Amino acid sequence: AKNCGKNNAKLYSSSLTMQIMSHVKLEVGLRKALQNDELYLLYQPQIDVASAQVVGVEALVRWRHPERGVISPTEFIPLAEETGLIVPIGEWVLRTACRQAMAWQSIGKRPVRVAVNLSAKQFKDENLTQIVLSALHDTGLTPELLELELTEGTLMDDARATMVTLEQLRGIGVYLSIDDFGTGYSSMNYLKRFDVRALKIDKSFISGLPLDSENAAITRAIIAMAHGLKMAVVAEGVETDAQLVLLEEYGCDMVQGYYLGHPSPPESINQMLADQCAM
Ligand code: C2E
Ligand code: CA
Ligand code: CA
Ligand code: CA
Repeated sequence: AKNCGKNNAKLYSSSLTMQIMSHVKLEVGLRKALQNDELYLLYQPQIDVASAQVVGVEALVRWRHPERGVISPTEFIPLAEETGLIVPIGEWVLRTACRQAMAWQSIGKRPVRVAVNLSAKQFKDENLTQIVLSALHDTGLTPELLELELTEGTLMDDARATMVTLEQLRGIGVYLSIDDFGTGYSSMNYLKRFDVRALKIDKSFISGLPLDSENAAITRAIIAMAHGLKMAVVAEGVETDAQLVLLEEYGCDMVQGYYLGHPSPPESINQMLADQCAM
């Protein structure tokens, strides 16, 4: 019993060392991931509730690690943010998604918007609007078909700089939305001023539906507020038919989730678009 503490400390420190080592290894690997073509995008459909058609797709990045296999963005995006690698990675995501969206315009019978996640670091990068402009210019994509998903945290961080950047993005004409809505801090006053086109209700509110009456109340309130502000609402993480039925009843505009389609390679989206009805 006397040695217990000491052994624990030793065990703890060696596992900590291992954690640090694997963290460093991952960072070294991430630096090379872009050059080595190890990143790729999956796309998850966003369905318009009224027409049941695909109106958008969200680009979600994956890392095919040479030794570890596919690594989730929840593991490497925080590391990319810490190291600043998110800026070149984010630019690659943006360009790849715009190029893909252009290809879809020729297959589909109706225009499809492509949504890209922007992290706070990217949003603060002084070159952001230039990066967005040149991705649009080089691919030829119409600005309205590019959606940028921001989080509440990103928007609330530095009021003045945020307003300037949002003003520039609005000038370009891209579609702005707030991701994970309801999980961060947002002031209703800001929502009014920001001129954002859509709110994405976080999946944590959707997952308990239809049984969870509190989350149902929150979902209804977000939809009512968004519509009052002339914003569209996307429900994320829709996994069941019962959730879809309820969201339709609440007047939710768009739905996204495993029930409607998993994040998929571009070829699967090609098929979905080819099967759609013309407008
Ligand atoms: P997010 O932006 O909130 O993306 C939605 C996440 O929910 C995705 O996880 C998606 O696969 C997952 N999801 C979709 N439908 C369902 C569902 O019905 N049920 C459940 N339980 N989950 C569902 P993923 O692809 O692992 O991405 C995780 C997060 O990583 C994203 O959350 C986003 O914050 C970040 N991320 C992904 N790609 C990028 C990127 O290119 N840039 C940046 N900055 N962040 C990214
Ligand atoms: Ca998102
Ligand atoms: Ca989200
Ligand atoms: Ca998220």
